[in-house]
Amino acid sequence: MLHKDIVLTGDRPTGPLHLGHLVGLLQQRVVLQNVYKQYVMIADIQALTDNVENPEKIRSNVLEVMLDYVAVGIDPAKTTFFIQSMIPEIAELTVLYLNLVTVNRLRRNPTVKTEIQQKGYEETVTAGFLMYPISQTADITIVKGTKVPVGDDQLPVIEQGNEIVRSFNRIYGPVFPEIQALLSSTPRLPGTDGKAKMSKSMGNAIFLSDSANVVAQKVMSMYTDPGHIHVADPGTVEGNVVFMYLDIFDPNKDEVTQLKEHYQRGGLGDVTIKRRLITLLDGLLSPIRKKRLEYAQDMAHVKQILLAGTQSVQEVAAHTMREVRVSMKLDY
Ligand code: ATP
Ligand code: MG
Repeated sequence: MLHKDIVLTGDRPTGPLHLGHLVGLLQQRVVLQNVYKQYVMIADIQALTDNVENPEKIRSNVLEVMLDYVAVGIDPAKTTFFIQSMIPEIAELTVLYLNLVTVNRLRRNPTVKTEIQQKGYEETVTAGFLMYPISQTADITIVKGTKVPVGDDQLPVIEQGNEIVRSFNRIYGPVFPEIQALLSSTPRLPGTDGKAKMSKSMGNAIFLSDSANVVAQKVMSMYTDPGHIHVADPGTVEGNVVFMYLDIFDPNKDEVTQLKEHYQRGGLGDVTIKRRLITLLDGLLSPIRKKRLEYAQDMAHVKQILLAGTQSVQEVAAHTMREVRVSMKLDY
């Protein structure tokens, strides 16, 4: 069984996309679309797993995320966008996968475990949230995805996906290819508050759609070194979010090294390094912001891109499900 590589990624429309997504968007999706068949899915159903009471929030962010995609340069002529809830075969495939995974295995998944803790779901986790790795496997395999660009928080989910693929193929025959996770050079961007991960739901994100003023405010309130009170004091670079971001986004590595040395000896103020970061981020985000505004002039067109892509995935999904039904003896 030979498969040409197929790339699938997706994001949850729980908010617009942020800097944590940006490196992956630019290094992976914008590049991979030239080499492979690429699908980008808006995971509205998955977004509901931890937003049960906020359907309006999810709905209103679907086109925001689409705007982010086209603004960073994911090209609708090369990439097929689709929306998860309009592909019912994903739900169907999820049900069939449920029997291949134990509840204990889901509970032990490190990503799910961490998220349950973060969200305080210990006693109240829903079946839908607990099993999201299964539905994510259905998202990927419904188009027979082989390469999946993700942040490193998703690696255990992909690993679990491959266990499902292997079980399925062993029991019912070779239908699905294995999945390979692809990490960018920044597999996890910390939040502006110094927490391990920038995330839409943690209030520590700089959004691609933030205005220059908002970006400046967010950088100015970034976590640095709480012990660095006076400019003359020696400061710490480790765990200092401004330096972490400079390491990632500043092309001038030599100057960053010099700044770090200066900061550590004392005499370099937080405001100076923050101003440098603001200028850098502005250079990075202002063309994206501009393109985003252009696309936002015609939202009907943006929606049309999503619906046209979804229509073509409906055909692919129906084809995959026919194969699944035959292999599972469900083709009456
Ligand atoms: P939420 O807070 O709603 O969970 P999120 O910010 O975690 O949102 P998702 O839509 O859950 O974003 O994640 C989409 C993809 O982006 C995943 O592959 C995830 O690993 C990646 N990603 C999210 N945050 C970061 C980050 N800070 N650094 C690198 N990758 C990230
Ligand atoms: Mg997330």
